[in-house]
Amino acid sequence: MSDKLNQTMTQAPESIDSRQRTGQPWNDMLPEALESMSSPRGEVRSMGSILSKASQVFILTDENIAPFWLPEVEYGLNCEKAVEIVIKPGEQHKNLQTVQRIWKTLMKHHADRNALLINLGGGVITDLGGFAASTYKRGIKFINVPTTLLAMVDAAIGGKTGIDFGGAKNQIGTFAEAEDVLVDPVFLSTLPRREILSGMAEMLKYGFIADDNLLEINIDNYQDHILRAGEIKREIVAKDPKEAGLRKILNFGHTLGHAIESHYMTTDCPLLHGEAVALGMAGALWLSVKHCGLDEQVLKDYEKKLPMLLSEAEISLTEADIEPIMGYLVHDKKNMGDKPRIVLLEAVGKPVWDVTVDYDTIKRSLEYIIINEYGKR
Ligand code: ADP
Ligand code: ZN
Repeated sequence: MSDKLNQTMTQAPESIDSRQRTGQPWNDMLPEALESMSSPRGEVRSMGSILSKASQVFILTDENIAPFWLPEVEYGLNCEKAVEIVIKPGEQHKNLQTVQRIWKTLMKHHADRNALLINLGGGVITDLGGFAASTYKRGIKFINVPTTLLAMVDAAIGGKTGIDFGGAKNQIGTFAEAEDVLVDPVFLSTLPRREILSGMAEMLKYGFIADDNLLEINIDNYQDHILRAGEIKREIVAKDPKEAGLRKILNFGHTLGHAIESHYMTTDCPLLHGEAVALGMAGALWLSVKHCGLDEQVLKDYEKKLPMLLSEAEISLTEADIEPIMGYLVHDKKNMGDKPRIVLLEAVGKPVWDVTVDYDTIKRSLEYIIINEYGKR
């Protein structure tokens, strides 16, 4: 784990459920939760020192998150005087226009190179805020406080920042590490279940590529494994920060997943990232059985989990979707050369990357998903 990337992790206080039932306001809860963040490892103290060194503190968040968590985080981190930048939620705002708004706010308040940006939110906020911070005056410090499961185990960690541009996701970006990542499951108490399931799919990915303990997660115990998932990502990124080789294993399930996600973007019921990856992993496991000798039981066990992962998604993949999805695959930036290079598994915990698979074979993995009606509700 990188020294710079401390992570604080605590369980949500048990009192939260009872407080919910008694109808006490959320803003009573977080101070307590943040107190509980003062873990024995003292990482909150390290965050305190980052904050105290800052000439000014800015907090970026979105309109969904702000009412629940903004005052509480300001209180908990003792930065009530922070300048708030609250943007509209959604991937469609992860663009240059929003970055300009952030830069302008920083300039308006005369932020110097010692200013600090706290990114409080999901992947959209951490990608966007990391990008804005890493480019303002050639880079100011930023802290990520992920509020979605997906961001806790993925987006907030690993030093990739970016915005969408020219109709394509993450086209413009930087490699820039957060000074600190503060993970606390208490934020998940307000996150819709569908978003939790999406994050769980990404956690299962770590199970497949690195640690079979993570294949045991379910809706009741996933919080116990958030820290481990983040650790796996950090270890991989530390070994290969710029994706020369090993880091590619983080794309397990993503080649097909991104194509399915892009296809669904054009419909009335877009899929969440993790849902598309859940389907993509089914295809990747099927291919792994066919081409890399993966034990078929791994695929069978995963097939039992898929309905749960997709239970909140509205999907109805049919044969007619194969061609458009294949069209996105051909344009995927990672598919250099004539044949796509993808990540497959020889066994759980034994991923292989840059496996060339021809388009016809990939198409058959899509047919497998459709024939088994995994993409149907
Ligand atoms: P990710 O890329 O991490 O999946 P996004 O940044 O796209 O997440 O956020 C997903 C949605 O969930 C957004 O609408 C966001 O405003 C909302 N959201 C994020 N965190 C929370 C939270 N803790 N409680 C309620 N809504 C949240
Ligand atoms: Zn992903």
